[in-house]
Amino acid sequence: MKIVVASGKGGTGKSTFSANFAWSISRGRDVVLVDCDVEEPNLHLFFSAGKSESGVTMPIPVFDTGKCDFCGKCGEFCRYGAIAVLPEKIMFFDDLCHSCGGCRIICPKEAISETERVIGKVWDAPVDEHLRLITGVLDEGEPNGIPVIKAAKEAAEGNDLVIYDASPGTACPVIETIEGSDYVVLVTESTPFGLHDLRLAAEVVRKLCIPAGVVINRSDGEDDETEAFCREAGLDIHMKIPFDREIARLQSRGDLFSVAMPEWQERFFELFEDICIRTGGAP
Ligand code: SF4
Ligand code: SF4
Repeated sequence: MKIVVASGKGGTGKSTFSANFAWSISRGRDVVLVDCDVEEPNLHLFFSAGKSESGVTMPIPVFDTGKCDFCGKCGEFCRYGAIAVLPEKIMFFDDLCHSCGGCRIICPKEAISETERVIGKVWDAPVDEHLRLITGVLDEGEPNGIPVIKAAKEAAEGNDLVIYDASPGTACPVIETIEGSDYVVLVTESTPFGLHDLRLAAEVVRKLCIPAGVVINRSDGEDDETEAFCREAGLDIHMKIPFDREIARLQSRGDLFSVAMPEWQERFFELFEDICIRTGGAP
């Protein structure tokens, strides 16, 4: 089963939820947790574990100026502005290249080949015998995190239960993370911004036809508007995590509150069982 934890905006406590959720489930069965927030991965801060690392690369063009007649077709073709053809020189801006491979195909002189450029890495860390953490990391300044997300997802293939922590928002990296999943948990908070962004995130999962439910984090009990929206959108609210001093204190130390507060382990595992019932999966 593939469960994605997403949120329409940053700062809702999505990663904290993901870490506690995965850790609690892993007390009863094997779990792989995948950090797909590749621009700012932070789940590794919750777990101390040695890790292995593999590079993520993208193919980029290489120009053979011996064969090239500077016709300019590759520059005209590249919609990302990565190629500028001058009378006797080609300028290539590798950070703008999206690795579509089109310039190589359209070159009439077969003057373009490909090489690989490293854009990020995937860390693989066995936290303990039941929990494994895979982290996608996009190198600083790189514009396209999709290949790193794909590589992190691939590294988790073949496991029965995978929980993916998506990046905040509703842009392409989130869609890439959500695609192919069985269920999405939308983490929100009951503020005007939280509700606005929950609406956007709910629309994305509705369009992708993936079942979803909501967790309200830092609830102060004033959740009427969020509850009304969820009713209207047909989204069940699975859980409310209260605005609680002890939870906040533990989180500020980078601790998992479900470790120090075992009643939450049970609640997170019940949430997982509920998702299993809804998706027809086995707990
Ligand atoms: S399309 Fe090929 S031949 Fe034309 S400028 Fe580009 S590399 Fe050179
Ligand atoms: S591979 Fe695609 S994106 Fe990259 S330079 Fe060629 S046409 Fe542009």
